[in-house]
Amino acid sequence: MKGREGSTLTRVHVVGAGLAGLSAAVALAARGVAVDLIEASAQAGGRCRSYLDPVLEMTIDNGNHLVLSGNRAVFNYLRVIGAEDRLIGPDEATLDFHDLRDGARWTIRPNPGPLPWWVLSPRRRIPGTRAADYLALLALTGPQGARRIDQAMARRGPLWERLLEPFLLAALNTEPRSGSAALAGAVIGESLARGGKAYRPRVAHPGLSAAFVDPALAFLAARGARVRFGQPARALTFEGDRVTAIATAEGDIAVGDGEAVILATPPWISRELVPGLEAPDAFNAIVNGHFKLAPPTGAPPIVGVIGGAAQWIFAFPDRLSVTVSDAGAMADQGRDDLAHLFWGDIAAVLGLSGPLPPWRIVKERRATFAATPEQNAKRPPAATRWGNLALAGDWTATGLPATIEGAIRSGQTAAAVIG
Ligand SMILES: Cc1cc2nc3c(=O)[nH]c(=O)nc-3n(C[C@H](O)[C@H](O)[C@H](O)COP(=O)(O)OP(=O)(O)OC[C@H]3O[C@@H](n4cnc5c(N)ncnc54)[C@H](O)[C@@H]3O)c2cc1C
Repeated sequence: MKGREGSTLTRVHVVGAGLAGLSAAVALAARGVAVDLIEASAQAGGRCRSYLDPVLEMTIDNGNHLVLSGNRAVFNYLRVIGAEDRLIGPDEATLDFHDLRDGARWTIRPNPGPLPWWVLSPRRRIPGTRAADYLALLALTGPQGARRIDQAMARRGPLWERLLEPFLLAALNTEPRSGSAALAGAVIGESLARGGKAYRPRVAHPGLSAAFVDPALAFLAARGARVRFGQPARALTFEGDRVTAIATAEGDIAVGDGEAVILATPPWISRELVPGLEAPDAFNAIVNGHFKLAPPTGAPPIVGVIGGAAQWIFAFPDRLSVTVSDAGAMADQGRDDLAHLFWGDIAAVLGLSGPLPPWRIVKERRATFAATPEQNAKRPPAATRWGNLALAGDWTATGLPATIEGAIRSGQTAAAVIG
């Protein structure tokens, strides 16, 4: 196997075992390249992981993660690691919404094909919208440069309030007004524009690690990859146009001739390790609230909430869960207050009464980079000026916001770039 330097690629050291690092490692191991994976924390998965919660006494995910049926890199990755069946969701792209301000409820029912005839049907489209309103989406097609969403399209009316604003807020984890029109256009181009069959909602079952992480580690182990946990990379040694060593607490790992490094750490770590690296430096929080109560019969798997503290309510077999994106101010609020706020919304949306069940609030303060035009412009490509070093991570220049699809794609790109 020829590497980018022209030498035979014998081994790749992947630093960081989030989804970007795992996807790079899997792509390389599948090609027969020897892989060494080092991870700072005690488990793999990074921002996309499950853990046993001592309060709820159940395994939960750090945050509710939604992927779409059209996420091609996600499904390729799952196919390779043998975990395609670990994503579940409805056969159709139906999505339920509840407006807490006036109690209105609606379900959108897009048709599967790319010709969006569902917008012609008042029973399928968003209440209060006309078919012609949906032409507004054309504003996000084509090159957007450094425009914000509010410079690309009008942000008013029922289509905006009842679909685009909640959808883009979730996809970009950034208040849509300041969001990058290019990133919004990329998301819409890969989902809404491709027809309902591309945006059937999918969640990991029984959890994120069981779908995305454990099968990948098993795949790597079966191919002889070495995986080391609790080993933060402290520094990289550069000589000429090569990386020659990775410093860890246990000593230096030599990067020999024909060996390469894929750095799949978060941007703030990568900037410390790579001289002169420009990378996103503004981040947005995501807050999740998990409640130990089985959903009532007939509860939709996911409900978009308008006008509440909760933005999305997920119904899992053993718990109800709330997600709030771009949750900056909320991340500073007390957990007890948040639990009561979220529970009030869940009770109103699902028609529940009764005491607050056992709960857990999880705050991820640097959940994703802020998907603004300024931050998007700081994203570096996978290739670096060092012949045997490539970058991966949802924050690299994938053309997508920080998502599972972007992270997995970035790992695959880095694996291709390095050899
Ligand atoms: C709460 C929450 C909800 C989300 N919801 C969604 C969603 O619904 N849909 C969606 O598509 N995406 C969602 N995302 C985004 C998604 O989780 C990320 O895009 C993806 O997990 C990023 O993967 P990554 O590998 O790029 O980064 P990370 O997961 O951050 O991986 C980096 C890894 O590097 C390790 N590391 C750090 N420093 C070092 C070091 N010095 N040496 C070695 N290892 C190191 C870290 O421990 C980590 O394991 C969500 C994120 C959060 C936090």
